[in-house]
Amino acid sequence: MKKVTTVAEMRAEIISWKREGLTVALVPTMGYFHDGHLSLMAKARELADKVVVSLFVNPTQFGPQEDLDAYPSDLERDSLLAEEKGVDVLFCPLKEEMYPQPFYSSVTVSNLTEGLCGASRPTHFQGVTTVVCKLLNLTQPDYACFGEKDFQQLAVIRQMVNDLNIGVEIIGCPIVREEDGLAMSSRNVYLSENDREAALSLSRSFRKATEVITNNGVNCASEDVLAVVRAFILSHPQNSIDYAKIVHRNTLVDQTRVDRDSMLVLAVKIGERPRLIDNFYLGAVVEES
Ligand code: AMP
Repeated sequence: MKKVTTVAEMRAEIISWKREGLTVALVPTMGYFHDGHLSLMAKARELADKVVVSLFVNPTQFGPQEDLDAYPSDLERDSLLAEEKGVDVLFCPLKEEMYPQPFYSSVTVSNLTEGLCGASRPTHFQGVTTVVCKLLNLTQPDYACFGEKDFQQLAVIRQMVNDLNIGVEIIGCPIVREEDGLAMSSRNVYLSENDREAALSLSRSFRKATEVITNNGVNCASEDVLAVVRAFILSHPQNSIDYAKIVHRNTLVDQTRVDRDSMLVLAVKIGERPRLIDNFYLGAVVEES
């Protein structure tokens, strides 16, 4: 595996692969790898001749009060894990390389970025779409793999690629969970034992939602489900809910009734930090009930 830190070297690598007619898959990350990241790398490995993993803690997607400086990192461990997964290039640029000064451009996707995480993190998605657009332009991949864990991010990136005619296939990959159900996240290292129990209320909410939908039957009101889910999450005093909603899986618009396209989406702050997100497809429950 090659470790590349400059845009020029990354571009040269891509040009030589393309000249040979090889396909490329990109996995954008902020590092501190867990099995969720590794599942994306495995998918990329299946899909393309060459796999590029970018590791860049992108400052523009963090708000002023957020955890940019405390974001966990372990480049040595990450390199070993990526190499084991058969990654060809680990692209880990410095901030100056990604944002040479002066830097005046940005990519904004409207509408889909305004609700959910965008409501409490108003600059977040512009940071994400700008850096992902740069990475796609640089690596010219045939495929780019993203986790369904960041459900809104995936919808926003699909929209950007479609709107701007970027010639890449976006691959959504299922959420990888710990044995106890907690969605894997680099930020889980911040959780104390006590907080972890509170954090499990996100994944356990799915069971609560399923019970309500099964009892109430088809056309169940979203509010009936959400009232139970909210009360359950808040039964842990250190939890505060940023949002708990049922939205259409493609448009992210709130739904008053649960149907085949419904997603339960959650963002909960556990104690002082961190804020965790999770989501569940409710459509399968509707089909069974
Ligand atoms: P991050 O390093 O947190 O920016 O995440 C990089 C990529 O990994 C994003 O596409 C995430 O959606 C994905 N990812 C993060 N956690 C998980 C998980 N538990 N399961 C699947 N994909 C994940």
